[in-house]
Amino acid sequence: MYTVPKLEDFSPASLEAATAELHGALEAEALAAVDTKTFEDFRNRWMSRKNGLLTQVNDLWLKAAPGPAKRDVGRIVNAIRQFVEVLVSNAEQQASRLALGAKLRSETIDISLPGIERPLGVRHPVLRTLDELVSVFVKMGYSIAEGPEVESDYYNFEALNFPPNHPARDTQDTLFIANQEQRAQRDRLLLRTHTSPVQIRTMEKLAPPVRVICPGKVHRNDAPDATHSPVFHQLEGLCVDTNITFGDLKGTLDHAMKSLFGSEVKTSFRPSFFPFTEPSVEVSISCPFCGGKGCRPCKQSGWIELLGAGMVDPNVFGFVDYDPKKLSGFAFGMGVERLTMMNYNVDDIQQFFYGDMRFLEQFA
Ligand SMILES: [Zn+2]
Repeated sequence: MYTVPKLEDFSPASLEAATAELHGALEAEALAAVDTKTFEDFRNRWMSRKNGLLTQVNDLWLKAAPGPAKRDVGRIVNAIRQFVEVLVSNAEQQASRLALGAKLRSETIDISLPGIERPLGVRHPVLRTLDELVSVFVKMGYSIAEGPEVESDYYNFEALNFPPNHPARDTQDTLFIANQEQRAQRDRLLLRTHTSPVQIRTMEKLAPPVRVICPGKVHRNDAPDATHSPVFHQLEGLCVDTNITFGDLKGTLDHAMKSLFGSEVKTSFRPSFFPFTEPSVEVSISCPFCGGKGCRPCKQSGWIELLGAGMVDPNVFGFVDYDPKKLSGFAFGMGVERLTMMNYNVDDIQQFFYGDMRFLEQFA
């Protein structure tokens, strides 16, 4: 490693040789500054005030020079100082450039590697149908009400005019929560078999007039097959006010069906029975696929049965402290899967619950 020599001879030739040796060492050391650490070592070695090589040059060459040589040595030492400053500045730039290059190389990404493709999610077809239904009724001024899926016997049956042991209960095969024998029957918990308990809960909370739809999941102890599933979705609606008539029910559902299936669709109302409505009706629409001529979805009849509906039974108002002498109303309900199967021409309700991507990707 280079050290600054003591000079005995201050002749121009001797000074020139000593300077050339110093320059050679300086240039070689500057090239070795390849990162922050080596650069700082290099700078300190040459420029440190205390015992840097420049300080040594000053002491050993300039201060030691005899009187007549001082001027020339001073000029040489000044030039050396300037040369050291230039090389230190260059070495600093070189070191930071090399350090950046090394950092970039270490962080290189192989852009030829295949990426991980994450497919975008889409709405499930059943929820898509439910959204469409909800938006039709929201535009008609209905608001959305929700309630628990684990319900009490009271809200699921009793308050909806299904007295204990009434045979109408048998039409809804019910899944009960276990180990509740010690409870009174009305407090026993079950998985709701319809969204109708939400209508009772809404009327308990709100003074009339009421216009709500209740979308949601319901459960029945049905063996799964092409048209039955132990879990499915319903959308129910309830309208209560003064002077609500069967004409309002027909007008509302006719308008809703035309909004969903097109203005040429006709509705038909046939008498039926539900414990919580009187009178009750089954509502059919003219087949939107064949226009009534007969096709596979309508089983060649030209009509498709879609809804149950009716005027709210005055007994139900009794459970929620509504005055049946002043108020009247209608309710309706439909199965969302059934509508979705018809809309998308799906022939097995189980497809909606298998989670089979080959089926679901058709709706992406
Ligand atoms: Zn048809």
